[in-house]
Amino acid sequence: MNRLLFVASEAYPLIKTGGLADVAGSLPEVLRQQGMDVRLLLPAYQHVLESIEPPALVAEMTLDGVPLRILSTRLPGTQTQTWLLEHPLFSQRPGNPYHDPHGKPWSDNADRFALLSRLAAAIATGQAGLDWRPDVLHCNDWHTGLAIALTHLHESRPRTVFTVHSLAHMGLFDRATFERLHLPEHFWRDNALEFYNQCSFIKGGLVYADFITTVSPTYAGEICESPGGMGLEGLLSQRRERLVGILNGIDSQVWDPSSDPRLEQRYGPDSLADKALNKVALQASLGLAAVDDRPLVGLVGRLVEQKGLELILPVLEQMLACPVQLVVLGTGEPRYEQRLKAIAAAHPKAMAVVLAYDETLAHRIEAAADIFLMPSLFEPCGLNQLYSLRYGTLPLVRAVGGLADTVVDSTAAALADGSATGFVFQRPDAGELLAALRRAVALWYDQQRWQQVQRNAMAQDFSWQQSAIRYLQLYNATVQT
Ligand code: ADP
Repeated sequence: MNRLLFVASEAYPLIKTGGLADVAGSLPEVLRQQGMDVRLLLPAYQHVLESIEPPALVAEMTLDGVPLRILSTRLPGTQTQTWLLEHPLFSQRPGNPYHDPHGKPWSDNADRFALLSRLAAAIATGQAGLDWRPDVLHCNDWHTGLAIALTHLHESRPRTVFTVHSLAHMGLFDRATFERLHLPEHFWRDNALEFYNQCSFIKGGLVYADFITTVSPTYAGEICESPGGMGLEGLLSQRRERLVGILNGIDSQVWDPSSDPRLEQRYGPDSLADKALNKVALQASLGLAAVDDRPLVGLVGRLVEQKGLELILPVLEQMLACPVQLVVLGTGEPRYEQRLKAIAAAHPKAMAVVLAYDETLAHRIEAAADIFLMPSLFEPCGLNQLYSLRYGTLPLVRAVGGLADTVVDSTAAALADGSATGFVFQRPDAGELLAALRRAVALWYDQQRWQQVQRNAMAQDFSWQQSAIRYLQLYNATVQT
């Protein structure tokens, strides 16, 4: 049980649009360090090929009439051997991996990710003509779900694990696409890939994998019920015994306030006063008032409904009056971007909005802010609250998914027993969010207690080492099934 093929549609730092890339960029490397023989399989997007040294050729083959090549490189910053599927569907497509410049899914996404899945299944079942075959095939999200279904067309297949990073994207395609892909007719059943008269790639993983994992224990429970299961709750609750929640880790080298090269001033739990220098620098660079009489609230993420924008916007002016300053970094739905910009324009000294994807600024906000706002409607795991804990920037979150599993509310009891690490509210309600913020602001004025909570937060261990052990145990458990 030593050889692992880990398949994903993105991996940091080669290509990233969200948390999946952080996982695929970290977990395979930690598993390799723990002794597994790992191959990471990714599409060779144009952007990826342009950003690496010329890769080595592993194999050239034709899969179901489609000629393709497997190239080999190392995931930058790691020793993880990374195989890239080279085909014009990926290598001659600039920009975002999933959608066109107008935000519409590429019209041939079914063909693109079916090809990735076919290659993964071919390698996994020994049909790719390589001298390496995995004991475990680990696929992630809808882009690779079909791979697991396809392994079931072969007698000799490895054990399989499928991880749900988000159920929100199911890889749904119509019947004509299903036929064009020449998938076996028995896949068009409701106990296979069919989902309300469409073909769902994610069901390939959910139905056929030996084990399903998702990225937090609470989210594992939520997706077995409505509305979290988004229509798949029946299937998932049937497979509940094979569904495990394993929290994501964070890259604790990239996200370390005591060594982060992107920061104005580095700091640790014993030098919290230095953290404030980051706040001063950020206020200056964004044109905010240089005040230290109120907390700075940070928000970094996709500006979409999932992240709780509908809770924030109605009370945003009241939030500023708490009083706090607010910095928002993100891109997303134009209606949210415009409203945030408009409110910031009316309060230029109190609120700044940067509509961009900017890793450096994300680090600087984590370091500068006092409070990190993450009032998600749903959140499979969430990474930003974990970065915030590490940076002593107390997360204010809704009790949902991975947020519920990782942040401990600063109740009187939790403050007393040293377990408090942030602020948690329950219902998706703007009034509850505002009340939690007021509690946070009140505690901030009690700096002695605030710093104790910061130290509690910074002492949490959400490194990949912890999570990788859980995955190793699961891979071993697949053998016993
Ligand atoms: P999701 O995967 O739902 O987008 P996560 O919190 O799990 O949310 O992960 C988001 C990741 O993307 C984090 O690493 C976060 O820092 C990063 N990120 C999101 N938006 C931006 C942005 N505008 N600039 C820089 N980093 C961003």
